Amino acid sequence: MDSSPPRLCISLCESTVAALEGAISAASEVSNLLEVRLDCLDRSELQNRSSQITKLFEQSRAEFILTFRSPQSDRQDVDDETRRAFWSDAIFSNSLFDVDLDLAEKLNVTESPIALPIDWRRTICSYHDFSGVPAHLDQIYDRLAATPARILKVAVQADDAIDCLPVFNLLERARAEGREMIAIAMGVPGVATRILGPSRGGYLTYAPLKTESATGPGQLSASELKRVYRFDKIDRQTKVFGLIGLPISHSLSPYMHNAAFAAAGTNAVYVPFEVRDVHAFLKHMIHPRTRELSWNIRGLSVTAPHKFAVMDSLDWIEPTALEVGAVNTILVDDNELHGYNTDAAGFIKPLQAALGDLRGARCAVIGAGGSASAALFSLKSAGAAAAIFSRDPAKAREISERFGVDSMMLEDASFAGFDVVVNATPAGTVGPLVNETPASAFQLRGARLAYDLVYNPSVTAFLREATEAGCGTLGGLAMLVGQAEEQFELWMGQAPGEGVMNEAAQRRLSTGSEIWNLESEI
Ligand code: NDP
Repeated sequence: MDSSPPRLCISLCESTVAALEGAISAASEVSNLLEVRLDCLDRSELQNRSSQITKLFEQSRAEFILTFRSPQSDRQDVDDETRRAFWSDAIFSNSLFDVDLDLAEKLNVTESPIALPIDWRRTICSYHDFSGVPAHLDQIYDRLAATPARILKVAVQADDAIDCLPVFNLLERARAEGREMIAIAMGVPGVATRILGPSRGGYLTYAPLKTESATGPGQLSASELKRVYRFDKIDRQTKVFGLIGLPISHSLSPYMHNAAFAAAGTNAVYVPFEVRDVHAFLKHMIHPRTRELSWNIRGLSVTAPHKFAVMDSLDWIEPTALEVGAVNTILVDDNELHGYNTDAAGFIKPLQAALGDLRGARCAVIGAGGSASAALFSLKSAGAAAAIFSRDPAKAREISERFGVDSMMLEDASFAGFDVVVNATPAGTVGPLVNETPASAFQLRGARLAYDLVYNPSVTAFLREATEAGCGTLGGLAMLVGQAEEQFELWMGQAPGEGVMNEAAQRRLSTGSEIWNLESEI
């Protein structure tokens, strides 16, 4: 089974036959395997246009999976009788049928009043749970395997990336038992199962044609799965890297790292993991001594809110990360997990490129969180005279004592005479904070350069105020790219192709507006 090419199945859910016809035509350009959710069609269309529907399937060169979901699924209005009537009419050639487990069990009993002469060799028997991951997935597998259906399918709702583990384990079991299986964890925390599933023996992975037309939560579009993640090139030898954070859907890191892997011709993939319980995730899925999954996992990027918490789960932490007090990069090194901080280097390089030697430069850092710590560490290391400006005196005191810098209140601060003013807060980030700035033009007048760590949008309210005040400006994209390039080098032992990550980030920023409705960034 592993030798068959990875299949991408485009899911279609349309309410009219005319719309379905258009969707089939567009989707056939991308894949020759299409899932049609017939329960999405308006009931009148389904009843009155059945010959037109049949013709659609007969005329297309694509292979179809026809589904008609149960009342337990996300569409509540399809009862047993309707489903039975549907399947008794559904004799389309060139199709697989996706039949819910509860109905399949009824259909399979010959004395049952709704028993049907269904072609089990063309049947996928499926189990969906839209509320979570049932405790005994193995028992559900047993029930699926007990029907005469050829292919087994489980789709459960993930709440944490660790929910991918039982799903991957089901694929392992099916592989060991020689069964064809589709196993998916729905929701953003489950995307790893959609990207890696086929490489672990999954019969197919589903994708909508466009993210907006997703038929299940957390689906990546067909083009993202193919072009960004190159899911069809992944095999058991592929080195797996990823990002852990909460949330992560907005992140540019998968676009940058996967582009760099592709450009380097490396058999590697970078996967987003939306993680709640970071210790459980590292223990059960990542740490070589305790993980319960056999995979070629090599490293992780770490973003908010886990940069501090991960430190407790690591075997060794480099001195820079210890001094900054945060880890944003994990390397799986033989039997150990090693922690690094590449934010500090990512922060300072663009600044040195803009201003040269920073020894003695007067630098103000606004904010008292993780990026402010990385900035202060780097500025101190470069010999600059740094000060922290924050709205929370307790946090500012803690951080100023740690780095031995002056601490000031942000309110009414004046930055006249500073060489650099850094915005290390989320103020100005696309979304509800987009019009916020931590300092006004009035406050910035007389400063030399304003450096905003926020990179989306590229011109923030803070940078606009700085321009009005006559300061030079520097956006956060260079830092984002810089820290990612450092990560790549730590993991791969070589630099990524020049400009590859920057180009990928710019491309995503200019085209990916639909995902930019969340507050935070990398
Ligand atoms: P944290 O949550 O750790 O810290 C944010 C800090 O900003 C807190 O001290 C918070 O104060 C303060 N803050 C928030 N809003 C305001 C405001 N309106 N005015 C004044 N202070 C405010 O976040 P990070 O330090 O990890 O990240 C901060 C931002 O830096 C991110 O949103 C991201 O945009 C950017 N970043 C960019 C990177 C890059 O590569 N370009 C890398 C890392 C971060 P309080 O505690 O009082 O709420």
